[in-house]
Amino acid sequence: MKKLIMDKDQLIQGWIKRKIITDKKIISAFQELNRENFILEEYKDQAYADYPLPILAGQTISQPTTIAIMTSLLEPKEKNKILEIGTGSGYQAAILGKIVGSGGKIISIEIIEELAEFAKANLKKENITNVEIIHGDGSVGYEKQSPYDRIIITAATPKITDELIGQLKDYGLLVAPVGYDIHSLVMTKIIKQKNTITKHEFGSFSFVPLRGIKGFE
Ligand code: SAH
Repeated sequence: MKKLIMDKDQLIQGWIKRKIITDKKIISAFQELNRENFILEEYKDQAYADYPLPILAGQTISQPTTIAIMTSLLEPKEKNKILEIGTGSGYQAAILGKIVGSGGKIISIEIIEELAEFAKANLKKENITNVEIIHGDGSVGYEKQSPYDRIIITAATPKITDELIGQLKDYGLLVAPVGYDIHSLVMTKIIKQKNTITKHEFGSFSFVPLRGIKGFE
C-alpha cells in the first residue's frame, strides 16, 4: 500500500476545504503544534500521515483527521476547563491547551504510567504549561477538579455514565466514541442543558478500548 504522507499544511488545508474545521482558533492550534514532538523517533517521517501511529505500551496516537473532527465537535473555547480521558501521547491535550490559552486549563488523565510520563515530556518540548497530566483511572472521570466546560474521551467507551455527565457544567459538552461493541463505535456528542441531555451521533470510528472500572474490563 502506498503511504499517504503529507506535510502539516497539506493536512490542515484539506480539513479547511472539507469543512472539518472552521474555527480559526482550532486551525491555529494545529498549525502551531509539531506532531513530531508527540511520536516515537522511528515514525518521525510519518508525523503528518493521516493514520494512527503506535506510541508506547501497545497504544496509539489517533489519526490526525479523527483528532480534528473530535476537536471541532468539542467546540473548545478560550478560558475553558477541559477534562481529557486517555492522554496517550499528549497531542490532543496540547491542541486543547493552545485553544483555551493561559486563562484555561486542561486536565488529562492516563491509566498507563509510562504514557503519562511520555506525554509530560512531549508537552515540555512544546513549552505547554496549562495542561496537567494525572496518572489514574479516568473511566470515572476526575471528580476532584470538576465541573468541566468540556469532557473528551479519546478511547472507546462502552457507555457515557451519569457520573461523567455529572462532572460537566451546565451548558457543557462531552465528545466520545461510544459502543458496547469495540468494533462498532459511534462518535457521540452530549450537550447538557439544565435538566436536559441531548445526544448527537457522527459516524463510526475505531479506537483502543477504555480500561478501568467503567471501561471494557
Ligand atoms: N489522546 C491521545 C490518544 C489516546 S489513545 C493522543 O492524543 O495521543 C487512548 C489512551 O487512553 C491510551 O493511552 C490508554 O492507555 C488510555 N486509557 C485507556 N483506559 C483509560 C482509563 N480508564 N483512564 C485513563 N486513560 C485510559
